[in-house]
Amino acid sequence: MIELEGLTKRYGEKVAVNNLSFTVRPGIVTGFLGPNGAGKSTTMRMILGLDHPTAGDVRIDGKHYQQLKDPLTYIGALLEAKAWHGGRTAYNHLLCLAQSNGIPRSRVREVLETVGLTAVAKKKTKGFSMGMGQRLGIAAALLGDPRILMFDEPVNGLDPEGIHWIRTLMKSLAAQGRTVFVSSHLMSEMALTADHLVVIGQGRLLADTSMADFIARNSRSYVRVRSPQRERLLDVLHQAGLVAVESGDGVLEVDGGKAEHVGELAAQHGITLHELSPQQASLEEAFMRLTAESVEYHAHSETSPEPPGQRWGDGWKRG
Ligand code: ADP
Ligand code: MG
Repeated sequence: MIELEGLTKRYGEKVAVNNLSFTVRPGIVTGFLGPNGAGKSTTMRMILGLDHPTAGDVRIDGKHYQQLKDPLTYIGALLEAKAWHGGRTAYNHLLCLAQSNGIPRSRVREVLETVGLTAVAKKKTKGFSMGMGQRLGIAAALLGDPRILMFDEPVNGLDPEGIHWIRTLMKSLAAQGRTVFVSSHLMSEMALTADHLVVIGQGRLLADTSMADFIARNSRSYVRVRSPQRERLLDVLHQAGLVAVESGDGVLEVDGGKAEHVGELAAQHGITLHELSPQQASLEEAFMRLTAESVEYHAHSETSPEPPGQRWGDGWKRG
């Protein structure tokens, strides 16, 4: 278990992490989602004691990282992709780590096997591809057989096979009862991996929710309908108790309605339809709306912010 309590980090004027409080629990994969610059890596570095909080506290199974004896046996982490000490072999790299952390030598072969690097164990790491480097980083995280694992954007730069492998690994680690905390800036990635979701933007907590809840609340289904008799259609829909909103270009979105129902209503009243299609709002869209105000650099004009009423409210923010 990882517990954050009012965790805050300032760099001069910049507040990178702003009063974050949440708990990462065992037995599930917890996704840590936020746009680039949201403060994910800074938070993870503070969990590992690599950065000192300006305020607040973070504990691993009730202790600060520095208080852990042989910390690699409590928590293993893959931080941002880094250049490897090229002169060493994968085997020797892991052996050095094991020897300096009170981990039995036999673990080296085990983790090399787990990450699929056995065949290249005696090769120097400077020839490693990005994917092999990530696997070696994960082998290092697993070396101490820790109950807690943390991965910072582990799928960045990987090919589809590598991405699939990492997803499967994280799920199996959680299924073994371990605590798995993984960051990403991609909602689509989290939707496939995480059971629980912590969303941050500009260092602040935006959501702390189960994935199932997030999906239920954000995968709005609606019917897209276009008609040259828009006003009349609106009346008919209204009388039938359906809520329709205009989404521009003369398109109406009928919330929660069935396409069949809308089509039959239109036919009964002799209304011509030019389009009738069932739709599902994407999770990516929900994430973008949630974090819209906290993204540092917008592609569109900064002078026309979205009206507050259109944002997904704090309805599902907990904690
Ligand atoms: P993320 O991992 O979510 O992309 P980071 O934690 O890397 O975000 O960064 C959060 C913010 O803190 C960014 O605005 C970044 O520029 C800033 N930041 C991170 N590390 C430093 C540092 N060592 N000095 C100054 N600013 C930093
Ligand atoms: Mg980062």
